[in-house]
Amino acid sequence: RSSGRLTGPNLENGGVADPKNLRVKLVLLGDSGVGKSCIVLRFVRGQFDPTSKVTVGASFLSQTIALQDSTTVKFEIWDTAGQERYAALAPLYYRGAAVAVVVYDITSPESFAKAQYWVKELQKHGSPDIVMALVGNKADLHEKREVPVQDGIDYAEKNGMYFIETSAKTADNINQLFEEIAKRLPRPPAS
Ligand code: GDP
Repeated sequence: RSSGRLTGPNLENGGVADPKNLRVKLVLLGDSGVGKSCIVLRFVRGQFDPTSKVTVGASFLSQTIALQDSTTVKFEIWDTAGQERYAALAPLYYRGAAVAVVVYDITSPESFAKAQYWVKELQKHGSPDIVMALVGNKADLHEKREVPVQDGIDYAEKNGMYFIETSAKTADNINQLFEEIAKRLPRPPAS
């Protein structure tokens, strides 16, 4: 699926950004086990398959969506594949990313704290115009909820992030997440 060649965000046609067809690098960050791989597989393949994990290495999946204004956005989605454990590698991973999706699990306050750590990292080392989303995943497990929805809303608002709760298991809000991100991308000027 992947082309194996990366030229950076918005750089197609030999480096000329095409405002009608954006191509953006998207990275996922968050504690291991919050559902990052499942969110990607749900979005790209329409499946919930916890056994099919991306293995180690710099692999990515891509998925293109069309917006109402007839523009398209091709997301090149990088999954950490467990490498979030190596904090020193993180800046390499999110270099050139136009979008960062920071995920926590609504049943895990620890994962919400870790999400806040990643937001601070991105504010320090990410590109200044990066679009950031905060995602409370596993929303289907509402009977086990330990992070109130309002906490996510408040934190995201304070940090200029888009916020949504999702379920990779039921597919709830997965497409909405990526559509809303696409709408928030800065557009290169039309040539
Ligand atoms: P990652 O380490 O962040 O990539 O997490 P995974 O995508 O591997 O998911 C970790 C575990 O959480 C798996 O056992 C999934 O079945 C489960 N999981 C992921 N998303 C959801 C969800 O939306 N709801 C529920 N109930 N379980 C989920």
